[in-house]
Amino acid sequence: MAFINKEAPVMVTGATGYVAGWLVKKLLDEGYTVHAPVRDPNNPEKLKYLNQLADNAPGSIKYFKADLLDQGSYAEAIQGCELVFHTASPFTVDVKDPVKELIDPAKLGTRNVLEEANKTESVKRVVLTSSCAAIYGDNKDLEHTENGVFTEKHWNSSSSADHQPYSYSKTVAEKEAWDIAGKQSRWDLVVINPSLVIGPGINPYATSESFNLIKQFGDGSMRTGVPNWGMGAVDVRDLADAHFKAGTLEEATGRHIISAHNTDFPSLAKTLLPKFGKQFPIPKGAVPKFMAWLVGPMLTKGLTRKMVSLNVNYPWRADNSKSIKELGINYRPLEESMVDFFQQIIDAGLLQSKG
Ligand code: NAP
Repeated sequence: MAFINKEAPVMVTGATGYVAGWLVKKLLDEGYTVHAPVRDPNNPEKLKYLNQLADNAPGSIKYFKADLLDQGSYAEAIQGCELVFHTASPFTVDVKDPVKELIDPAKLGTRNVLEEANKTESVKRVVLTSSCAAIYGDNKDLEHTENGVFTEKHWNSSSSADHQPYSYSKTVAEKEAWDIAGKQSRWDLVVINPSLVIGPGINPYATSESFNLIKQFGDGSMRTGVPNWGMGAVDVRDLADAHFKAGTLEEATGRHIISAHNTDFPSLAKTLLPKFGKQFPIPKGAVPKFMAWLVGPMLTKGLTRKMVSLNVNYPWRADNSKSIKELGINYRPLEESMVDFFQQIIDAGLLQSKG
């Protein structure tokens, strides 16, 4: 841990987001000074959850105004930082203009932040929040892997601005980061590649797509069943641990798949049945693929028939052994993450029970 001076501030982009919340908590609990460049530092409602964390921790938080697309806007926040976490990037599937809403902020934003790291002598390490979406595009891509499992050496080569644009945005952003990191030697880049993130957020009203997805399990829109869509899942609290270790373990290097479970939609829903099945219309099984293909795109924004064809009834498998061996991550059970998350969504008033 000694290679990062604990007295130096740590910059966290996207601190207001779902994924960054628990990381900020960990840093504050460890006594760090967090520099949080946010789009709107004068929005007390948005910052209140982070302020509550800082009020109850030995560390402190300072806000700065910055936007991924505003070149040079991270200059002030990064001053004096040895460690930078770049988590900010839009995570939404409902977009009209994928280039403007997803790809530009992801790629140009990464360039903006990392060019600032290049200009700032104190920076020793940058941890980038990429995604498993930069490793694979569709579940069918698993067929092209040698051993039927996604690993850190795989790259998403099937997504584009027209098909799976969010995944494409994460792929081009991570490539941009490796490109910039490779042209210098003062700071090193460590990358975190999470699968679908679940579990209770610090801010129960975050904009992350994770909330929309899990909310659908209780709002009746999936009462007839969910598509048998394979995916990985990881708890947001375990992901914060992974970020912290990627930032503070000197020996951490390269990409890291952060994914606790190889799972699918029906299995995620199943974890909710014992506790919530009576009060909420939790899906009890899978819908046939042809049904998902026919009606899915009409009911779910951002879902296309091509996505259904290439993902439903295909398993998802990833090798998370590097995260366990090198970062020492101890993943919690799927049920715990799902139940805690769903309970938070209910407590936040985002779901109405059957009565
Ligand atoms: P989120 O809650 O929507 O957080 C996104 C963050 O990015 C927010 O803090 C947001 O700031 C910031 N941001 C978006 N556009 C920005 C811009 N133009 N300028 C400055 N900041 C901007 O989503 P999340 O799930 O936490 O995602 C955080 C990171 O985790 C992303 O890199 C995402 O790709 C990655 N990830 C997420 C998942 C998942 O399942 N959730 C899985 C893998 C990877 P505002 O508060 O100002 O909107």
